[in-house]
Amino acid sequence: MSSLPESFASRASRMTASEIRELLKLLDKPGLISFAGGIPDPALFPAQEFADAFARGLEPDQQAQSLQYSVSEGYLPLREWIVGQIAKIGVPCDADNVLITSGSQQALDYLGKLFLSPGDTALVGYPTYLGALAAFNAYEPRYDQLSVSGNRTAASYAEGAGADGSEVKFAYLSADFANPTGETLGQQGRENLLALSEELGCAVIEDAAYQSLRYDGDPVQPVLATEIARKGSIEECRTIYCGSFSKTLSPGLRVGWVVAAKPVISQMVLIKQAADLHTPSLNQIAVHDVASRIFDSHVETVRSAYRQRRDAMLAALSEHMPEGVSWTRPEGGMFVWLTLPSGLNGAALLAKSIETVGVAFVPGGAFYADESGANTIRLSFSLSDADEINEGIRRLGHVVRTC
Ligand code: PMP
Repeated sequence: MSSLPESFASRASRMTASEIRELLKLLDKPGLISFAGGIPDPALFPAQEFADAFARGLEPDQQAQSLQYSVSEGYLPLREWIVGQIAKIGVPCDADNVLITSGSQQALDYLGKLFLSPGDTALVGYPTYLGALAAFNAYEPRYDQLSVSGNRTAASYAEGAGADGSEVKFAYLSADFANPTGETLGQQGRENLLALSEELGCAVIEDAAYQSLRYDGDPVQPVLATEIARKGSIEECRTIYCGSFSKTLSPGLRVGWVVAAKPVISQMVLIKQAADLHTPSLNQIAVHDVASRIFDSHVETVRSAYRQRRDAMLAALSEHMPEGVSWTRPEGGMFVWLTLPSGLNGAALLAKSIETVGVAFVPGGAFYADESGANTIRLSFSLSDADEINEGIRRLGHVVRTC
């Protein structure tokens, strides 16, 4: 008789735990300074506002709505609030263009489910967000490289996807302050990306998880806004925009959203109905309550805290990193991406760094679909104050120097 794992679907073999998880288990070591987790600082959650909002949502006259099943599209006042916000950044649409998801991670899973048959091609950055690869892997795609940086966008599709007949279904990217590199794609790069999607007849998945967290520099309009400006209406657009409240209000409530042409939203609603019916009613009501009261002012508070930490990290890197190490200078988000001298290995450096100086980070190789990038590492500045950042980078500089 075969064991149960032998009966798992072929997609299960693409769901692998990363080896760095083992190392990151050591994060509770006393005195350890961690630049590993790309997670928001809990001190910045609007906790009292949420306590009040949940209390209001649970008042007797609200319970029939807040504790009840609700529609798969999401809580209408929240969708309407998103319509108002996104109009401010050049995306005119209506509530039927918006689906509420359980975090933007769920949107990535649903988009994989919607577009990818086994063997289809997804264009992704090398490196790209690890969670996107994990979500897409379940649908057994092949990957091809989308290289996006500064004002350039290019893909190796010509000799890759096109050649073996595999259809390119979408290009996925974080255009603003990407995880893991912190880089932002310029306006020309966004135009190039749209031209590429036209040429290939594929969708663009714009992951806007960090878009509100700009600390300096001029905002670049979303890829979706660029496409609407060209084509006149969201209904003509290939770009699917995924937003999230995780980095601005709270990740634990699991509320995100998708904005796209109606046929895409309608099909995603069917996927959501089959998968989890809807995002929790009370969470959506509370997020709407808090967002409609304080979103803009709260985001300003969050931005100013992370801006100081970003500045502290960049200053510490300049002071403590030896010759031969280079890094990105993000205008927002949570990450700085380091390239070490070739020959140095990020995973080996992590083991040594935790062991000898008590500093953790994520080795960059995990973010590459082709398992390259061994000499890169991702540092997150979201969780530490300026002093801790300076001390952690000082220690890390020492380890790099002695490697
Ligand atoms: N996209 C990116 C680029 C992320 O970094 C994250 C969270 N780490 C997500 C999506 C998922 O966020 P959430 O599901 O909490 O919205």
